[in-house]
Amino acid sequence: MFDAASRIAANLSGVRRRMEAAAQRSGRPAGDVRLVAVTKYVGTAEIEALLAAGCRDLGEARPQDLWRKAEAFRGRDARWHLIGHLQRNKLSRTLPLADLLHSADGESLLAAIDAWGLSAGTKVGVLLEVNVSGDAAKHGFSPDKVVPLWPRLASFAGVRIRGLMGMSGREATPDEARRQFVALRLLRDELLAAGAHAAEFRELSMGMTDDFEIAIEEGATLVRVGSALFEGVENLRG
Ligand SMILES: *Cc1c(COP(=O)(O)O)cnc(C)c1O
Repeated sequence: MFDAASRIAANLSGVRRRMEAAAQRSGRPAGDVRLVAVTKYVGTAEIEALLAAGCRDLGEARPQDLWRKAEAFRGRDARWHLIGHLQRNKLSRTLPLADLLHSADGESLLAAIDAWGLSAGTKVGVLLEVNVSGDAAKHGFSPDKVVPLWPRLASFAGVRIRGLMGMSGREATPDEARRQFVALRLLRDELLAAGAHAAEFRELSMGMTDDFEIAIEEGATLVRVGSALFEGVENLRG
């Protein structure tokens, strides 16, 4: 395990260096961009190594995996992010464990989250997932629906919409990925112009292992990186 842990620490500092350089290229302080380490490929030993190396934000794509891992690390200094689709029947078990839901991908899910937030006396932090690539297999609001829906989405008192999340297309070239990230940023700006509060609504969750530097150059405040952190580490699933 020692080897894997030091490998993970080295990978993490490499990713952080690349993040800082990309922030600098876009004229932003490195502190503007937060890394969410996506742990869906690994188990508790690797997560332990990430925490030891100073990583605090951890992301899981499947609610059941988030439950299991958040449980295993209960009481530790870690924030959990759900980055994949949340089924309605898993909502009440997931929301108390998640610091931020990146994947609020439809109006009816948001209405259900709103109802849960109101009954729990809290405002659930979410990002609206927007299907900027247009891939049929991807979840999310279609980009042209978000502005017209905004007044309704903004009226949910049990939800705090903290920004937008998007993914580049499966087959996207770097240029296409960049255009998709730009589209997400412009949509955020449009929503700010339409009355979203800049203090609350500021996050842009975009960029993964293959394109996080492009995403940062185009304004990402959260990047979701998995594979790059576990390169050279055995025991990798998927
Ligand atoms: C798996 C996953 C990631 C991380 O992907 P890598 O390419 O391994 O960095 C990011 N976002 C979502 C939504 C994912 O499912």
